[in-house]
Amino acid sequence: MVRHTRLAVARCIYVTLCAAASLQSLAVDCPIWRNPRISAPEVPLNIDKVKGQLRAYKTGNYSADLAAVAGDALAYLRSQAGQVKNPAMVLDIDETALSNWPAIDSDDFGFIPDGSCDDPSRGPCGFTAWVKRGEATAIGSTLSLYRSAREMGVTVFFVTSRLEETREKTMANLRRVGYEGVDDEHLRMAKVKGPAQDFKTSARNEIAQNFTIIANMGDQESDLAGDFSGCTFKLPNPFYFIP
Ligand SMILES: [Mg+2]
Repeated sequence: MVRHTRLAVARCIYVTLCAAASLQSLAVDCPIWRNPRISAPEVPLNIDKVKGQLRAYKTGNYSADLAAVAGDALAYLRSQAGQVKNPAMVLDIDETALSNWPAIDSDDFGFIPDGSCDDPSRGPCGFTAWVKRGEATAIGSTLSLYRSAREMGVTVFFVTSRLEETREKTMANLRRVGYEGVDDEHLRMAKVKGPAQDFKTSARNEIAQNFTIIANMGDQESDLAGDFSGCTFKLPNPFYFIP
């Protein structure tokens, strides 16, 4: 515990990342979260320069950073899958299993929950309308992890804050990009808008009645905090924050 905590503190550059390391240090034997390889913003902050840095990160280190975390998760699954009864992994969807980059880019990093999304290449693009288009692409490294997990007998559950009203489109989107075998049992969605962490912890509690959750991977701390997570794997997402 002491060694991991010291390592985590030594690797912290920003206050937010220190908080993340502190959160994860609760899980003694889990791999340390990785820091995104994104450059520090200039001070004083200028939002247009920050947006430029985010776009540079998206085309730069982002994919490799995602893959590194998925690699950590895969190694952990391999070490644990045979050690427990009914092993399971939990995956978030947005910016974990699927990429919403066209909507994020089109909206210039602003979140537009409602409204139409008639042409994502031009924007603005309401998020629910975007989800219902079913055009999100797979995050390749997560898809590979999903397939590997299933091959080794780990049941994969998607737990998402997307609302139930998008279930059909979300499931079709997941299947279309390669997440084969997703069904209602393995897709847990929020019934009402509310704190993501509360819903997700409750969903994992339900899953844990019949499975041993050994890993949980998501792009937000609210995906990972709370009980029944196993080891947590934090993907980079400097594009938006969900409390
Ligand atoms: Mg997400």
